[in-house]
Amino acid sequence: MTPFELAEPKTLNEAIALLDAEDPDVRPISGGTALMLMMKSGVFRPNRLVSLQRVEADYSRIQRGGDGTLRIGALASLSQIEHSGEVRQVAPVIEKTMRHLSNVRVRNVARLGGNLAHGDPHMDLPPVLSSLGAKAIVAGPSGQREIMIEELFSGYYETVLDRNELITFVDVPSQAGWSSVYFKCTTRSADDWPALGIACSLRVENGSIGDVRLMISAATEKLTRLVATEKVLRGQQASEALFERAGESAMAEAEVIDDSRGSASYKSELVRVYVKRALRQASVGATQS
Ligand SMILES: Cc1cc2nc3c(=O)[nH]c(=O)nc-3n(C[C@H](O)[C@H](O)[C@H](O)COP(=O)(O)OP(=O)(O)OC[C@H]3O[C@@H](n4cnc5c(N)ncnc54)[C@H](O)[C@@H]3O)c2cc1C
Repeated sequence: MTPFELAEPKTLNEAIALLDAEDPDVRPISGGTALMLMMKSGVFRPNRLVSLQRVEADYSRIQRGGDGTLRIGALASLSQIEHSGEVRQVAPVIEKTMRHLSNVRVRNVARLGGNLAHGDPHMDLPPVLSSLGAKAIVAGPSGQREIMIEELFSGYYETVLDRNELITFVDVPSQAGWSSVYFKCTTRSADDWPALGIACSLRVENGSIGDVRLMISAATEKLTRLVATEKVLRGQQASEALFERAGESAMAEAEVIDDSRGSASYKSELVRVYVKRALRQASVGATQS
């Protein structure tokens, strides 16, 4: 490994000042579970790493607002999020997702900000958080901006973040009236990387789908919202026939790519079957809540 500088700032502002908008070899590091693999394989050779481990504890906190909203610090570990009572109360789907996200050793070290900023389309949290309508709060030298999680990804391992911007928090709105599920389809063990991730949140009003957010990941180049399929669903009576139609629509809409976890045609079939299952399960949850 080539030598590099490791900076350990004590404040977020210092960390931002140590980043460099022009230099791709200067990067923040939070848990290091993704970055260290890239360094070991020689894909990434840093000049400087800016560790976020020592910045203010505020960025690791998980807080629930009186209105049912949730604010998760970007430096909270995945285990902290998994075991948080606040997270379970607002969005139990996050806790359920964590149980099959890698293993406890990785979850103890990895941080929410790193999970999102890495831009890997196989990550489990981006589809879940975007189906919940969550947004990232991002800080840079000129202040803060908010980015919906569904708009954070611009391509394969690419995000819309500037090199000197940091994710500081993720805000999840109140989930009152919404029912959410996540299906992680793996071709090996249950906690392997997914061949397909499908997250669905919906509201049922008088037996009809009042609103729906349908996200797909891992089978596509980047996190993708199935907008056309949502239109097939909105305002329609929830039924097996409707879910069947939505599965067909999703299969036609998703631009599926192949990788080591399956061919594009196999993954397209997964999309058809699992969109149907996700809708069925979410609508049962919605009528019971
Ligand atoms: C064996 C193994 C199995 C795994 N299986 C799964 C799985 O099944 N599902 C899944 O979803 N994930 C899986 N992962 C991936 C794991 O979830 C990620 O590696 C982890 O979430 C990244 O977080 P980190 O804090 O370690 O990021 P780091 O490695 O520290 O950083 C990752 C990237 O994010 C940038 N970054 C870090 N923090 C910030 C911030 N606050 N703002 C802006 N940029 C930032 C870094 O510069 C870097 O580019 C697996 C990982 C391993 C090692």
